[in-house]
Amino acid sequence: MFGIWSPHGTSVLHFPRFSLGTKEIQKEDPIRTPALPYGSEFAYSTNPAENTLTILLEAELAESADPQDTQYLRWRLFDDGGIGEVRIFPGEPVTGTWSQQELIGTEKYGKGSPVTATFTGLPINNSSFGKKKAVLYEYKGSGTPTKLDDAFFEVFFYKDGKNHPGDPANSPNWFYYWIPVMSFGKIENRIYSDVINVWLSTYAETDPPTRTTTFSMEASRPNVNTGNSGIYAFNEIITHENCHIDLWEQWWCKGCINTLGDDPEQDGYPNWWEDGAEGRAAGFSSTRNDKYSGERWVQGQKQHTAGYKYEEGVCRAKERSPLAPNWTLDIFDWSMSTLSSDQGKQWGR
Ligand SMILES: [Zn+2]
Repeated sequence: MFGIWSPHGTSVLHFPRFSLGTKEIQKEDPIRTPALPYGSEFAYSTNPAENTLTILLEAELAESADPQDTQYLRWRLFDDGGIGEVRIFPGEPVTGTWSQQELIGTEKYGKGSPVTATFTGLPINNSSFGKKKAVLYEYKGSGTPTKLDDAFFEVFFYKDGKNHPGDPANSPNWFYYWIPVMSFGKIENRIYSDVINVWLSTYAETDPPTRTTTFSMEASRPNVNTGNSGIYAFNEIITHENCHIDLWEQWWCKGCINTLGDDPEQDGYPNWWEDGAEGRAAGFSSTRNDKYSGERWVQGQKQHTAGYKYEEGVCRAKERSPLAPNWTLDIFDWSMSTLSSDQGKQWGR
């Protein structure tokens, strides 16, 4: 038994510090093995100029230990669960270096304590975030390193950063990593734009005939309609925009434009529906332009059109029952935010 470990061998993972503005975020929840709790969390830098993940590993020595004995410590990091001892970030364009390292056989080990592992580049796949394992070994220069202990930790991306490796360029990390895990209904084309309307905090905008939706940064910020944020808000906005397509295709048809239909005033609503019971009840008229996007002046007052009021009423209600239940998305959310208002669902858990 290696004598410096107290009482059963203890390794401690410390958390990197990062800050934005005046608010400093610091996670100080060191893992103390052998309890191996989950919930020790490391995030890629929130500095937009950096795309690095830094993990500081440190073993605690017994009081009676010789500090020189840290020279015998070696470290490796593994992917989820470590059952197959898979290297961290397998198949991803992520490069890792240790602050001090040693090649033993064909494997690079971190050497000593404390030691820092720095990863550069974000993974392509959302599934590459999440649970990882750090393993501590003893090595005295020959043979195979002897495992002393291990501890689990989790890796997150900075939600509003733009340092993911894929398309679309200039889209935030949440948009890139969440697209593959969302249910989009009838939305076929997904575009990102930081700001859709400089005058309004517009979450998203849809062109129903082409089934194209443009999402803004607001689509992952708190949804004032439901009070949800982050991946839940995105899920609800998707459901809302899908609803606009549903309505359009109910009035016209998939891919159809209204210019050849029963719509002489060209407001997007067919006269048969505007003059029907539902249209009349919602304030439509077949002789007035009720176009969704427009506002109109009534006796000196600016008012939303019947089209806007009707569609927003119907589609905001749909946000209460999204295409996929919000809770089913928790396991896919590896985002962290510097804003507590839209924190990731697994950060801090
Ligand atoms: Zn809408």
